[in-house]
Amino acid sequence: MRLLIVDDSVVKAQIIQKILNNNLSIDTEIVSSAEECLDKLQINSSKPFMEYNLVLMDINLPGMNGIKVTKKIRSHEKYKDLPILMITSANDDSFIDMAFNAGASDYINTTPIRQTELIARVNAALRLGSEMERRKKREEELLETTRILNMTNRFLEKISSHDPLTNIYNRRYFDQFMESEWNNIPKNKQALSLLMIDIDFFKSYNDEYGHQAGDTALKKFSNMLIELVTRTRDVVSRYGGEEFAIILPQTDTRGANFIADEICKKIYSMKLLHKHSPFENCLTCSIGVATELPENWKKNNMNELILKADKALYKAKEKGRNQAVVYQET
Ligand code: GH3
Ligand code: MG
Ligand code: MG
Repeated sequence: MRLLIVDDSVVKAQIIQKILNNNLSIDTEIVSSAEECLDKLQINSSKPFMEYNLVLMDINLPGMNGIKVTKKIRSHEKYKDLPILMITSANDDSFIDMAFNAGASDYINTTPIRQTELIARVNAALRLGSEMERRKKREEELLETTRILNMTNRFLEKISSHDPLTNIYNRRYFDQFMESEWNNIPKNKQALSLLMIDIDFFKSYNDEYGHQAGDTALKKFSNMLIELVTRTRDVVSRYGGEEFAIILPQTDTRGANFIADEICKKIYSMKLLHKHSPFENCLTCSIGVATELPENWKKNNMNELILKADKALYKAKEKGRNQAVVYQET
């Protein structure tokens, strides 16, 4: 424990120092002016040291008085909780209020110096300081724990909703989002469209170039999808294997078909070599498009929309692949 005595009366300061040194296990230092005190606390440097556990401050210093010094010390965030005990004499009573307002923790009247009271007050101030320190540490620990917890939660949220290979949304997120958008249809009074996408001849791509190259192609494919589908409410997800699903809220058949055609054109134009593809040896995809209109909406029919998109996808495959097909009632 370190204690700084600030008093221009050297004799008084030394008596106080002697009493404290004889009775408490603390180190004491004496300075006799406001300037020296501010120097010791390095108050003018940008990062002041917290070297002292307690300051005993004479209220009546020449030049800058103890109240002003106290105010200055307190203005530093770091010294917000440093206990400052004012040393007063018989005729300083009228200043005590000002001293507390300036941030003093307590005061001790030293005319005359009463040993028992001095020790008791210093001890109490030191205890207060330690308690403040402990509390501050606990608060910091709590903040750190909260920070780590938030980070962990964000991480968990991310891995539970994203596909690790492609980093786009996964099937679980698709299911959740689809359900919530489905239930929003009556409120939005707007169509909801769904694209089911499947890469063509992907088994032979894997067989030809290996599974790792297949993984790379899946990543390139999903990157292309998220670059192309940019509206904030649209959700691009990996539905499973080489199948992707895109939810397009507030989008009618025309809009959905337009995006589906764009995707087909885009992957084709990327010219990812696929030796066994009949389309100029390029990797291609097929897409099924289905749309739910608000006037046809029924609460429990969500899976029917998925089934319709799937049927349309099957049709696209049947018709020769590398194309988008809109679901038609037969
Ligand atoms: P089609 O044109 O009819 O869709 O034929 P296809 O070969 O694409 O379809 P099929 O269902 O026969 O094969 C899909 C292939 O996708 C088989 C599987 O090895 C591959 N695949 C699925 N998931 C992954 C993956 O995570 N990584 C890699 N590299 N390949 C995958
Ligand atoms: Mg498939
Ligand atoms: Mg396929």
